[in-house]
Amino acid sequence: ATIVIAMDGPSGSGKSSTSRGVADRLGLRYLDTGAMFRAMTWFMLEQGVDLTDPAAIAALAGKPLIASGTDPLAPTITVDGTDVAEAIRGEAVTGAVSPVSAVPEVRARLLQLQREIIGAGGIVVEGRDIGSVVAPDAPVKVYMTADAAARAARRALEEGGTDAAAVEASLLARDKIDSSRATAPLTMPEGAHHIDTTPYTLDEVIAQVVALVEA
Ligand code: C5P
Repeated sequence: ATIVIAMDGPSGSGKSSTSRGVADRLGLRYLDTGAMFRAMTWFMLEQGVDLTDPAAIAALAGKPLIASGTDPLAPTITVDGTDVAEAIRGEAVTGAVSPVSAVPEVRARLLQLQREIIGAGGIVVEGRDIGSVVAPDAPVKVYMTADAAARAARRALEEGGTDAAAVEASLLARDKIDSSRATAPLTMPEGAHHIDTTPYTLDEVIAQVVALVEA
């Protein structure tokens, strides 16, 4: 299979579970580009970089070796050989990822890695700028959204019962930075199918995306 399926949308829209489910159903690989930005952010925190200084972030953007395993049932992520899958979901990384992701040198470095992994295709790729920047020629593009409260409830559940109101505030703060930054802001890509997942179960949304592929 050489197909590329581009899945964009804000966090908590159901992108990750849907993308993994679609890849599993169709026998495709899976790439979580958000995890790559989180891994880059983890590295910057480890290095003690001043996150209010974009030039300091830019200077180190080419340093870490970030590797992503693409099995949809067991995705992995390492930085210089260290497994960071758990660390990148913590509050420290979540709170710092938006400013790091706004730095053009970070995006350029990760774009290069993302294109290498996508290669000849056969992959579901999720992120914020996949259909617009990373894989603008993808034959199937989906833009997923959900009501803020529904997104926060899902994320809180994923994070093991954290307070949904606090999660909602953090999500909205990240959305605001992600959609207003100068480089690759989160927008609905041209040619994307919009799915508002609020009223649907995961299986229903997976079926909707699979139907787009088979159409
Ligand atoms: O998808 P996830 O919530 O893990 O993404 C974390 C952060 O990474 C986002 O808030 C955004 O700042 C950044 N990101 C990005 N471009 C992507 C994927 C993620 O800027 N393609």
